[in-house]
Amino acid sequence: MKITLWGVRGSIPTPMTSGFIEKKIRKALALARPGDITSEETINAFVESLPFSVKNTYGGNTTTLQVVTDEDDLIIIDCGSGMKNLGDTLMRGDFGRGEGIGNIFLTHTHWDHIQGIPFFITFFVKGNRFNIYSPIPDIEERLEYQQVFTHFPVSLQYMQATKEYFIVEPEEEFVLNNTLVLNKRMPHPGGAFGYRIEQNGKSFVYTSDCEFNYDSIDNIMQYEKFFMNADVVVFDTQYTFEESFDKIDYGHSSASVAIDIAGRFNVKKLILFHHEPNYSDEKLENVLYNAKTYLSMNAKRLGNLDIDIAYEGMEIDL
Ligand SMILES: [Zn+2]
Ligand SMILES: [Zn+2]
Repeated sequence: MKITLWGVRGSIPTPMTSGFIEKKIRKALALARPGDITSEETINAFVESLPFSVKNTYGGNTTTLQVVTDEDDLIIIDCGSGMKNLGDTLMRGDFGRGEGIGNIFLTHTHWDHIQGIPFFITFFVKGNRFNIYSPIPDIEERLEYQQVFTHFPVSLQYMQATKEYFIVEPEEEFVLNNTLVLNKRMPHPGGAFGYRIEQNGKSFVYTSDCEFNYDSIDNIMQYEKFFMNADVVVFDTQYTFEESFDKIDYGHSSASVAIDIAGRFNVKKLILFHHEPNYSDEKLENVLYNAKTYLSMNAKRLGNLDIDIAYEGMEIDL
């Protein structure tokens, strides 16, 4: 399966500001030596050598993931503002002709996980078909409520793609073609669900939003089946370890807790996700650096875990 991250920010879309762009340019120029900018070739090599936070951005769109299975089935997990760009891209294929079929899984209905739907252009194309799977019994009403006339000019029903809702039981396993999907209740105010997707011996786990701390780790074995031996886990790590103490019950975790959980369940790769809107690219790069330091300090206990941090456009092949 192939996973693409279209939105990685938590809570609210966070566009890059002029001030941050200017800071990046100043930093790049300060790092340049005269020989770095003498030709197109040297400029390309110089830009390539810059830190990610200087030459790029982790992205400001809220949570949206695309999974394409080995059978080419499309699964969209969460419908944050990243869904707008995903929709524009899908329009170039079957969805532009009204012949597309997609499956949607939602973790929960906080704004940052549904706000992309009104701008998901493929929903406007008659003939497209979407199967919406959720353990939330009133999911249809909740999504329609987002687009009542007082909040948005176009109702969900006016968007002419066929939308069929499938209510699954919490913690139920279900099958899409030969893809196995397990949903798992996650600790988060108002409730949220994580998803484990398995196909052809590969497993991908997505858990956003969730609040784990060192007290809840005592009861972590109830998540064994969900996390165990996963190839990749995308994990809500909105806060630094220090901030997580000030933000108890906000519903999010820190990287160090996620690392401990991933290590305990023999996860191969952990991806830090649902970035705090107040964190700059520089700070997020530092979050990854600190996470890697924590991992190396505890290497014996945590095994061969690999860590990365989510950015918009990141692709994972499993
Ligand atoms: Zn969220
Ligand atoms: Zn939430």
